[in-house]
Amino acid sequence: MSDPELAIDAERFRRSFETYFAIGATENDGLHRLALSDADATVRDQFVADLEALDLAVTIDEMGNVFGRREGSDPDADPVLIGSHLDSQPYGGRYDGQLGVLVALETLRAMDDSGIETTRPVEIVNWTNEEGSRFENPMLGSGVFTGNVDLEAAYDLRDEEGNRFVDELERIGYRGETPCEPRPLHAFVELHVEQGPILETHGNAVGIVEGIFGIAWLEATIEGHADHAGPTPMHARTDALAAAASAIDEIEALPSHLSADAVATVGRLNVEPNSVNVIPSRVEFTIDVRSYDDAIVDTAVERAIAEVETASERIGADATVEELWRIPHTDFSPTVCETAAAAAEAVGVRAERMVSGAGHDAKYLNDVTDAAMLFVPSADGITHNEAEFTPWDDCVAGARAFAETTLRLAA
Ligand SMILES: [Zn+2]
Repeated sequence: MSDPELAIDAERFRRSFETYFAIGATENDGLHRLALSDADATVRDQFVADLEALDLAVTIDEMGNVFGRREGSDPDADPVLIGSHLDSQPYGGRYDGQLGVLVALETLRAMDDSGIETTRPVEIVNWTNEEGSRFENPMLGSGVFTGNVDLEAAYDLRDEEGNRFVDELERIGYRGETPCEPRPLHAFVELHVEQGPILETHGNAVGIVEGIFGIAWLEATIEGHADHAGPTPMHARTDALAAAASAIDEIEALPSHLSADAVATVGRLNVEPNSVNVIPSRVEFTIDVRSYDDAIVDTAVERAIAEVETASERIGADATVEELWRIPHTDFSPTVCETAAAAAEAVGVRAERMVSGAGHDAKYLNDVTDAAMLFVPSADGITHNEAEFTPWDDCVAGARAFAETTLRLAA
């Protein structure tokens, strides 16, 4: 292990983590900081103040993505972009997103401490609405930045109360003027919690993420008939929920027939009229299927649709299945992965190669530049939950590997 040129100040890093975590912290040590909420506004203000304290050039784009730029010695060189997101799931965890932003911030502070001048500029970013839980389109800020999502479509999204995205962006004071569009970048690197159990199981502090699963989201609607739960005999019913239940059972079993990495989830169910003594007339539910192999995702989608149709036909109900969202798997940049692996080794951090089952901003960034990610462990693989936890030593190890990766990319 050689002495890293860039020394992470673990105490300062921890203090920042505690400052940011306090903004939107819940009673149970979780984080509730939905995109464009008041808490999101407060944490953004903190972030901008921290960037200004480092004398970075701060820009805010039309989607509220916040950038801070540290110049390099070559004014014509494309920048290395580092960062993640500061929004959280409802009653989510402390580490998801925020840790990646704070590791990037500590990287820039450590560069200043050591008086390091890189050749390339280094830019830090906080992407808007990564979670997609309040405004339902995950990775929204990076989606528009990379040309994957239309700006106007993003502006028109509404939350459950009917608030428009653009109005909320304006309200919190983060509708910037800089166009949100692709521009030349040398690379993008994002550190994130794994959100799965692999690193912890293997006893490794860092994962070098070589790619992301393909993902498809479907919404199934089954239309039966509402009748009184008492007088209607069993043979005379068209119970939409009974059909949905049997379809869901089959969908849950699908991955075991497809591949070792495939997963299928029904995460949302709406039942109408949702009354104790009325036979359900209409059920809507979502289906999320994923695999690193896009052909497996295609097959899973076909079979899930067939299961909904079969279960509905059996009782004489009508079924429709709509595709909400689909993205193919991502292969991250082998060059950035190699750099990250060499960096982890140089600073003496145990790392392994892996792929991600969850989508991240880095996925979209990979469309416009060389991108990759570093993961740190999630205790018991728990995430999107107040109990989310990463041992602090692993956060520091991740920060050291991340800083060294950034330095090598920008050198
Ligand atoms: Zn995240």
